[in-house]
Amino acid sequence: MSQIGFIGVGKMGKPMAQNLLASGHSVKVYDLSTEAMKSLVTEGAVEAKSPSDTASGVDYVITMLPTGKEVKEIFLSSDVMTKANENTIFLDCSTIDVEDSLSIHSVVKEAGFDMLDAPVSGGMMGAEQATLTFMCGGERAVFENCRKIFELMGKNIVFCGGPGKGQATKICNNMVAGSIFLATAEAFVLGEKLGVDRQVIFDVMSKSSGSSWVLENTCPLPGGKPGSQGSKDFKPGFTAQLMLKDLRLSQAAAKLASSSTPVGAAVTAAFQQHVNNGHGQLDTASICLLVDPEIT
Ligand code: NAD
Repeated sequence: MSQIGFIGVGKMGKPMAQNLLASGHSVKVYDLSTEAMKSLVTEGAVEAKSPSDTASGVDYVITMLPTGKEVKEIFLSSDVMTKANENTIFLDCSTIDVEDSLSIHSVVKEAGFDMLDAPVSGGMMGAEQATLTFMCGGERAVFENCRKIFELMGKNIVFCGGPGKGQATKICNNMVAGSIFLATAEAFVLGEKLGVDRQVIFDVMSKSSGSSWVLENTCPLPGGKPGSQGSKDFKPGFTAQLMLKDLRLSQAAAKLASSSTPVGAAVTAAFQQHVNNGHGQLDTASICLLVDPEIT
């Protein structure tokens, strides 16, 4: 059994850590919020006192933090690597900027450790059901070593290439997902204004070329699909603020690569407006409120 340190046990990190515990591994958790750690401790996790305490004596350290700012704080400013074993491997599952990820890879390498960037897709449901997709960047041999750990939390474990390539893949995926959220919301609102019942739109679209993971799992409009975020007052889930973060990352990456993303740029501007309207903490499905603020 492996010893695993887990930093950042929020909406995603908590169920991921629960799956590691459920598989019989020993898990140490660290989060700025003691509340976030509490229930994991009752399930058998050990509460760490600091980043270095989390990394001390463990085989793997997983970080699942909101943005590159927090990940950089942990790797560039904290003592996280001071008490790690020489074979400890660092796995950053947060979604962050490609450039930030590359600078963290080089700092970790200079300190003599292996690491992978390994952002995920699949949302909270995927984290709870251990069906996440992991997009991994780093050395292939390190990836092969860590595959068994990822398989406890996900079912689609993909090697994307060298350092930062997991983040690059994730950013491309989420630029498409953000676009589909907005396009799907626009289609539902338009269909209803043309007099078609919401349920009819869902039933047809979900079996037709307009279908998508977004429609099937988090149908943007209330009532389209029972149990979707749209039907739960837009309780997150994946917040609109985090989607905006990923869309901005896609635009920074597009600039870096001199790649044209006109749809990505328009969708980023739409989510920026939605967050400016005060909806950043709602689920991403709430983007339908930008299309029609009166929607219920
Ligand atoms: P979250 O805000 O729910 O959880 C982050 C946790 O990190 C919080 O508990 C917070 O207290 C903790 N934290 C922040 N700074 C810290 C620090 N310096 N030290 C220790 N703990 C710290 O966020 P989340 O929704 O779990 O997302 C985490 C990452 O996963 C993000 O990068 C996000 O883009 C990505 N992601 C989220 C989803 C989703 O559906 N929520 C899906 C795929 C990917």
